[in-house]
Amino acid sequence: MSVYVLPPAAPATLAVAGTPARFPVHRVFCIGRNYAWSPDEARTGEMPAWFMKPASAVVPAEGALPYPPQTTEFCHEIELVVAIGLGGRDIAAAQALQHVWGYAAGLDLTRRDLQREAKRAGGPWEPAKAFDHSAPCTPLVPAAAIGHPRQGAVWLAVNGAQRQRADIADLLWPVTELVTMLSRSVALLPGDLVFTGTPAGVGPLQPGDRITGGVTGIGDFSMTVTSEPT
Ligand code: MN
Repeated sequence: MSVYVLPPAAPATLAVAGTPARFPVHRVFCIGRNYAWSPDEARTGEMPAWFMKPASAVVPAEGALPYPPQTTEFCHEIELVVAIGLGGRDIAAAQALQHVWGYAAGLDLTRRDLQREAKRAGGPWEPAKAFDHSAPCTPLVPAAAIGHPRQGAVWLAVNGAQRQRADIADLLWPVTELVTMLSRSVALLPGDLVFTGTPAGVGPLQPGDRITGGVTGIGDFSMTVTSEPT
């Protein structure tokens, strides 16, 4: 047994719907633009960009959502989240779903002003994307219980007004191809999460806003934005 010089951090985990067991989160991959944001936008031959958040950014999508520091443009991105249960590299699309343990609805929260600055300066995206509490997720639903959904609304409202709505059937790069793409670049491991991209309608949040959202058939949530800690 190892002796640590510091107490090791507790593993990040997600609730699993219908059981007290937890899903241990290993890494968080996020896919860039993966829905058409305008009617004429089509999938190109290029795979979408991907980036990462720390596992510690994953929190339950419930209760209070703290407004993060160093931004005046804290934005919501509702996304289908895929949980990897079986690792692998160079996974063929036909086998990809065998590697998927389950699904959740999640928020890829973004400090948009910092992302704009990163794009302008050619800098890293972590300040824009990888901050504390930046990846709230609903409890995971096992594929063993619901199968692998090919359709279902992905939606988000702020103070009851709809901001984002699409269908996971409209993903430009479906889950199978995202698993294939990522596994060519890195070996996927059990516990990895993949945020699959957000539809049009992303926008800023203010302290006091009530956010509701979800993916039909997978999970929904309600959170309230709280003031930046002083
Ligand atoms: Mn996103």
